[in-house]
Amino acid sequence: MTNSVDIDILIVEDEPKLALVVVDFMRAAGFAPRWIADGLAVEAAIAQRMPHLIILDLRLPGKDGRDICRDLRKHSDVPVIMVTAQVDEIDRLLGLEIGADDYVCKPFSPLELVARVKAILRRTRIHAHPETSPLQLDEAKLQASYQGVTLDLTPIEFRLLATLASRPAQVFSRNLLIDRLYTDGRVVEDRTVDSHVRKIRRKLEAIAPGEDIVQSVYGAGFKLVL
Ligand code: CA
Repeated sequence: MTNSVDIDILIVEDEPKLALVVVDFMRAAGFAPRWIADGLAVEAAIAQRMPHLIILDLRLPGKDGRDICRDLRKHSDVPVIMVTAQVDEIDRLLGLEIGADDYVCKPFSPLELVARVKAILRRTRIHAHPETSPLQLDEAKLQASYQGVTLDLTPIEFRLLATLASRPAQVFSRNLLIDRLYTDGRVVEDRTVDSHVRKIRRKLEAIAPGEDIVQSVYGAGFKLVL
């Protein structure tokens, strides 16, 4: 088990005041933060040592966060939390093309950012030991089980749950879920997603009453919390 003081967090942020607040909060949470201000310095910082997680501002001098993340994804799965002031870009940032793991919107609470960092590191560990997860998904057979009990899911419910489980703790918007679930490009209403989520919840509830692992985030979408 790694100590949190050994957890290297790379902060890429060109506003020094904001960067120093984030550095302080990360240090207070027991992590080892590094800060750089220029987008062009990311490559060298990573070559020196691959961090456990990157907090990446979207608008940066040199090279912007979008390009940095896209290039990074060609060779690394290192978790990336994108910091943005533009809510309308979130779906694209989290989508396959750019591949950020999560985001916070400016202005954000540093404590919220610490919580996101912890959630992502937790799920990275879950991915490192998938056999210990209470939720098991067999993609080939479209079969799922929770706490060892088989879940009787329709193919679309399976895909929805598998999508949420691909990045636990990340909020998926209804639009993003529709894109992932209906690859034929058909027009689907938001409430269709809600109705599938309700059915999945009922099936989970039957196995583990009171446990709410598929959570709605008001105004944003859904996330899986294991
Ligand atoms: Ca900036």
